[in-house]
Amino acid sequence: EVLTDSFRSAINKIRFSDDEKSLKSALENLKKALLKADVHHKIVRDLLRNVELETKAKGIGQVNFLRSLKTHLTTILTVPGHQGFVFASKPPTTVLMVGLQGSGKTTTTVKLANYLKLKQKKVLVVACDLQRLAAVEQLRQLCSANEIDLYFEDASANPVSIAKNAMKKAKEGLYDVILVDTAGRLAIDAELMDQLEAIKKELTPDEIFYVADSMTGQDAVKSAVTFHEKITLSGVILSKFDGDGKGGVALGIAEQTNVPLRFIGVGEKVADLEHFIPDRIVSRLMGEGDLETLAEKTSGIINEKQAKAMTQKIKKGQFNFNDFLDQMEQMKKLGSMKSLIGMIPGLSQMAGKLQDVDMENSVEMKRIKAMIGSMTKKEREDPELLNNSRKRRIAEGSGLSQVEVNRFLKQFGNAAKMAKKFSGKKGMQDLQNMLS
Ligand code: GDP
Ligand code: MG
Repeated sequence: EVLTDSFRSAINKIRFSDDEKSLKSALENLKKALLKADVHHKIVRDLLRNVELETKAKGIGQVNFLRSLKTHLTTILTVPGHQGFVFASKPPTTVLMVGLQGSGKTTTTVKLANYLKLKQKKVLVVACDLQRLAAVEQLRQLCSANEIDLYFEDASANPVSIAKNAMKKAKEGLYDVILVDTAGRLAIDAELMDQLEAIKKELTPDEIFYVADSMTGQDAVKSAVTFHEKITLSGVILSKFDGDGKGGVALGIAEQTNVPLRFIGVGEKVADLEHFIPDRIVSRLMGEGDLETLAEKTSGIINEKQAKAMTQKIKKGQFNFNDFLDQMEQMKKLGSMKSLIGMIPGLSQMAGKLQDVDMENSVEMKRIKAMIGSMTKKEREDPELLNNSRKRRIAEGSGLSQVEVNRFLKQFGNAAKMAKKFSGKKGMQDLQNMLS
């Protein structure tokens, strides 16, 4: 989080309530930070001038400086137009995904499909990238892993006719949304633009989303401008917003294209997509976290009723292996741990430096899944059943040693016991006593 760190240091420069010198040096730091984050010098100049004037008018000090910086950053990021995903009045809502090669189009297409699926929408993804041999296969794998419907034809087909056939299928199948993944190039060229133009003409899409790689700075801004000139974008999605450098691109694209930013991609996983909401993004850039997004994310996924039922089960000591797998699935839907941590005030600066934990693909998790996979239905429901001969069978079935199986079962048993002990009314008190 380069920009966040520099914002912090600029903010901390202002210590004295009426000291113009400290304001100057804060502005100077801010300028360096913004330019380093690849924000266009004109935007920087205007922003600094506005912040300076407003801070002076309100009284030089940290609070006023901070407030006016936030206001003006939010103003730049607020572009009139649609926010989030907007459904057309007549389905299917058709969205064309465009952008340079490697910008994250395919990943983002699947993330959006997944997001819409969670809203109970019927979504068809269309593979119109025939430029790279592996492109259709990549999409096929991602869609199948996430149970998303995909329309594709073989590599000799023409993207325009694929789009046409896909639309027919979407209408017949009463789909709510069709998301069309297209080919990208390393740089903008006429052939690519002609192809996109032809697909656009065939589909007359409701939206054209440009996927911009946040890591590429000013280049992403420039190509967004060119794409907008050629095919008129209706939204921008910033991918790789979990990396360094991010804020600069958001400011540049908003300022120079005047196309609304709609979503951000915050990791490689399918759940790592969030609405772009200007003031929340600014809070995050300023290192203040974003509790609202965190609350929304968890409330959409953690169902209160289910959580209560689970607590009841734990209290009765009935937490079994199926519950364990369920909990892991829920965790997965929350997306990357790093992005969640980034939303917690006070921890947001730390998040940038963290390595993301990939629980799902960790060796340990794979072993645990293999073990549970080797259990019978009865065993999964009742951990008590696991005697030595059953443990031996599970070890063989999962290709692990008996020592490993025992270790996991012991951990599981301890965790279940602890959970039971602390889930009662006295639980928190016990926990505090134990810790003190
Ligand atoms: P395309 O060529 O535009 O279709 O790009 P892809 O969707 O194939 O993505 C290129 C690479 O960027 C892949 O390795 C993705 O996993 C990665 N990627 C895409 N979106 C994100 C994101 O939001 N965060 C991170 N960290 N990686 C991403
Ligand atoms: Mg692709």
